[in-house]
Amino acid sequence: METTEELAKPLRWPWAVTRLVCSQCGDISEIDIETANTLISVMEILNNRPEIKLENRADYKNYYFESNYCKYCTTKEIIVKLKQIEP
Ligand SMILES: [Zn+2]
Repeated sequence: METTEELAKPLRWPWAVTRLVCSQCGDISEIDIETANTLISVMEILNNRPEIKLENRADYKNYYFESNYCKYCTTKEIIVKLKQIEP
């Protein structure tokens, strides 16, 4: 299935706030608020802080994270991006 199509679907898990996509293998996982906050902290460390306020589930409505690593892939240089879900 296309990534954009998958991202447009409603989240399956009640604890999930958004999704994380791996740019290396295309793996898509649903993530909870703690994981989302950790990714934002990583973005802050990388001087790539999101410009929008992300405090609860509703704030993530049209956004997802993309990283260049996941539970299957490793990387030497971590990249985390917040991306808008394409309509
Ligand atoms: Zn991966």
